[in-house]
Amino acid sequence: ASARDDHTGGDPRDVLREVYGYDGFRGDQAAIIEHVVGGGDAVVLMPTGAGKSVTYQVPALVRPGTGLVISPLIALMHDQVDALVANGVHAAYLNSTQTPAERAGVERAYLSGDLDLLYVAPERLSVASTSALLQRGRLSVIAIDEAHCVSQWGHDFRPDYLALGDLAERFPGVPRMALTATATRETHRELTERLRLSDARHFVASFDRPNIQYRIEPKVDPRRQLLAFVRAQGEGAAGIVYALTRKSVEQTAAFLQGQGIDALPYHAGLPAETRAANQSRFLRDDGVVMVATIAFGMGIDKPDVRFVAHIDLPKSVEGYYQETGRAGRDGEPATAWMAYGLGDVVQQRRLIDASPGDRSYKMRLGQHLDAMLALCETVGCRRQNLLGYFGEPSAACGNCDTCLEPPDTWDGLVPAQKLLSTIVRLQRERGQSFGAGHLIDILRGAGTERIRQQGHDTLTTYGIGADLSDQEWRSVVRQLLARGILVARGEYGTLALAEPAGAVLKGEAQVPLRRDVLTRATSSRQRRP
Ligand code: ADP
Ligand code: ZN
Repeated sequence: ASARDDHTGGDPRDVLREVYGYDGFRGDQAAIIEHVVGGGDAVVLMPTGAGKSVTYQVPALVRPGTGLVISPLIALMHDQVDALVANGVHAAYLNSTQTPAERAGVERAYLSGDLDLLYVAPERLSVASTSALLQRGRLSVIAIDEAHCVSQWGHDFRPDYLALGDLAERFPGVPRMALTATATRETHRELTERLRLSDARHFVASFDRPNIQYRIEPKVDPRRQLLAFVRAQGEGAAGIVYALTRKSVEQTAAFLQGQGIDALPYHAGLPAETRAANQSRFLRDDGVVMVATIAFGMGIDKPDVRFVAHIDLPKSVEGYYQETGRAGRDGEPATAWMAYGLGDVVQQRRLIDASPGDRSYKMRLGQHLDAMLALCETVGCRRQNLLGYFGEPSAACGNCDTCLEPPDTWDGLVPAQKLLSTIVRLQRERGQSFGAGHLIDILRGAGTERIRQQGHDTLTTYGIGADLSDQEWRSVVRQLLARGILVARGEYGTLALAEPAGAVLKGEAQVPLRRDVLTRATSSRQRRP
C-alpha cells in the first residue's frame, strides 16, 4: 500500500510519526499544517533548518490529491524525492534532466492519482503542456519553495517565479503556500503581493540562531587572521570558508593545506568529479574545511558544521545570513567569522557599476552593500543588527564579538550633526535633497563641477567636515541609516532625516562610531578627531 492509501484523511501527527519517525511538531509546524489542511493559504518564513519541508509534505499526504512543489534547484529536487521515496512516499519530479519516457511515466502516475508529491521547476510550469497536464489531475496543495526568488529586491531573483502569480486562477480552490528562509520586510511584502497571497495567513518564525557566535574583524593580514581563526576551532572541526572568486578559493585552500589543515576547494569551475569527491569528503569525514564560492552549500545537510568564515565581504545581509546559517544546525555552539576591508568595498562598488541593469537595480545593489557594511561597522550587538534587518526586534545577545568585547569607539555626534544640518539646510533653504556622495563632497569642501553649478560652496556647512576622509564619512552615513536616524529615498537614494534625528541635532543622543572601521589597513587614522 502506498503512503497515500495509508494517510489520506489521516491525522497529521500520525503521518509525522509513521512517515518521518518524528515524535512531534516543532514551532509553528502544527499550526501551519492545520491551516493548510483546512484549505487556507500560507506564507511561511522560517530560517534554514527549522523544518519547512514537513509543513507542505504532511498536508500533501493528508489531503486527497497530489501536492505540487515548485522548487528552483534541480539537484535538491533529486535529493528530496529520493529521501521521500525511501520513506515510502510516492514522490516524483518533472524536469529537464529526464528522458521523454521518464517524464511520461511520471505524468501517468500523476493522472492516475498515484502521486503524493510532484516536484517541478518553475520554468516547467510556464510550458503549456505541463500546465494542461496538471489541470487534468487533482492537486491537494501547491507549495512554492524559495519563494523569495520572486522578489526583485532580493538577491536571488528568478524571472520564472513571476509567472507563479496566476496559480490561484489556474488552480482555484487549491491551497497555496509560499516558503522561504530569506525574508526582509521588503521581500516579505513583495512575495505576498506577487504571488497573490493577500488572503494567506503568515507564519513568521524567529530567525535567531542563538548558538551561532558572530565575529567580524577588519582585514589586516587576511591569511594569518584566517589561519589563526581556523586553528582556534580545534582539531576535527568541520567548517566552510567562503571566498568571492575561484582564484581566491584555490589559493586559500592551497595556503591552508600548506599549513597542515585538511582543506579542499569547491567552485563551479572545477570538474564535476572533483566537486562531488570534495563534497562527499566534507560530508563524510571529520574536520574537513571546505574553501568555496557561494556555489557551495545550498541543500548541504551537514548538521555539525562548526564554523563558517567569510574572507570576502558578502554582497548582502540576506546572503551572509543564509551562508552563516549553515553553521551549527545541530544546535551546538558554532562561529560565524568574517574579515572585511576597504578593498572589498572598492571591488564590490566596481562590480555594481559594471553590472548590467538599470539605475534602480544598481541602486538596490548599493543599498545591499551598505546594509552589509553597516553590520560590519556597528558598535551595537551584531545579532540585534541582523535580526533588526529582518524586522525582528531583540535585545543585545551576549554572544557576538561586540557584546563580548565592546569595540573601541569615538564620538560621532559632531560629524553626525554636521551632516544632518547640511541636509536640513538644503531642504529648507533650497528645497533640495541629495544622495550621500554629493553631501559628503559639500562637507569635505570638494571643488566639483556640481558643487559650483549648484552654488553649494556658499553653504555655511561647506568644508566643515574636511577632517574626515570620504570613507569615514560614508561610514557615518551608513551608521545613521542603520540606526534609522537617516532614511534613503527613491531611485537616487536621497537622504532625509527620520524622527530620531531631532535628538542628535539637539545633542541629546549619542553617536558612538567604531575606531577600527575600514581604516586600520589604510593611513587615514591620524585624521580622526
Ligand atoms: P528547512 O527546509 O526549513 O531548511 P528541513 O525541512 O530541511 O528544513 O528540516 C530541517 C531538519 O529538521 C531536517 O533534518 C528534518 O528532518 C528535521 N525536522 C523537521 N521537522 C522535524 C520535527 N518535527 N521533528 C524532528 N525533526 C524535524
Ligand atoms: Zn550580541
